[in-house]
Amino acid sequence: MMEHSIRIGNRLLAALPLADFHLLAPHLRKVTLEPGAVLVHSGDPIEHIYFPLSGMVAFITEMPNGQTVATAVIGNEGATGVIAALGSSRSPTTAIVRVAGSALQIAPARFQTALGRSAPLGKVVQNHALALLAQFQNVAACNALHSVEARTARWLLQTHDRTEGDALQLTQEILSELLGVRRTTVTHIIQKLRSAGAIRCNRRGIIEIDRPALEASACGCYKSMCRRIDRIVPPDGTKPRLQATTATTPQFRRANSERARSH
Ligand SMILES: [Zn+2]
Repeated sequence: MMEHSIRIGNRLLAALPLADFHLLAPHLRKVTLEPGAVLVHSGDPIEHIYFPLSGMVAFITEMPNGQTVATAVIGNEGATGVIAALGSSRSPTTAIVRVAGSALQIAPARFQTALGRSAPLGKVVQNHALALLAQFQNVAACNALHSVEARTARWLLQTHDRTEGDALQLTQEILSELLGVRRTTVTHIIQKLRSAGAIRCNRRGIIEIDRPALEASACGCYKSMCRRIDRIVPPDGTKPRLQATTATTPQFRRANSERARSH
């Protein structure tokens, strides 16, 4: 099961027993997630479901006047299109790749057929919905109660969790899109985070972070959200994050290998 988990790379799919994963496997195609690629536009039919193996996808809500705000970001702990594909088949949100990576892609009809034959796959969908709901609730509270600076630090930490290294490919324009604030506000916030030693910006606008200083600048939402999501979708331990998060990883591995032996 360990090898199986590593090979799959998506934390939702890694939780599946091998037999259930094999219901999907013939229909999964590995694709590259290019930065800026729009996986689906709000209101459009879901053509593909994506299970990221790496990188990050932002769920963006667009207002009629063109304003945008991110409601969630997902990496290898999540998926795009799964929930919409169960019901209306039209996407309620725009999904944009914000950190390059790769994903396993499947057609919604193929996914639904496998879902009808697999209770563990139903559990995967349920866990994904719960993790996403936890993030929506947290982001809604954070947007209403916390400063733009703290919210920026939270999005930067969430992006860092899904990025290799400490350099984030986030321009001020992208941050403006995520935060739902003007570019001038982003410029001001970036300056404040620089003065706090939480980030450095190079000439190309790439943001390099100082993780401990950035965590100090963020509100408590980041940590509480990570804990909630990690409880629902166990972490894979490939990237050290919070102390509490890392500590749960060996238990998860043990649980996985015990389950593998019992099969
Ligand atoms: Zn907050």
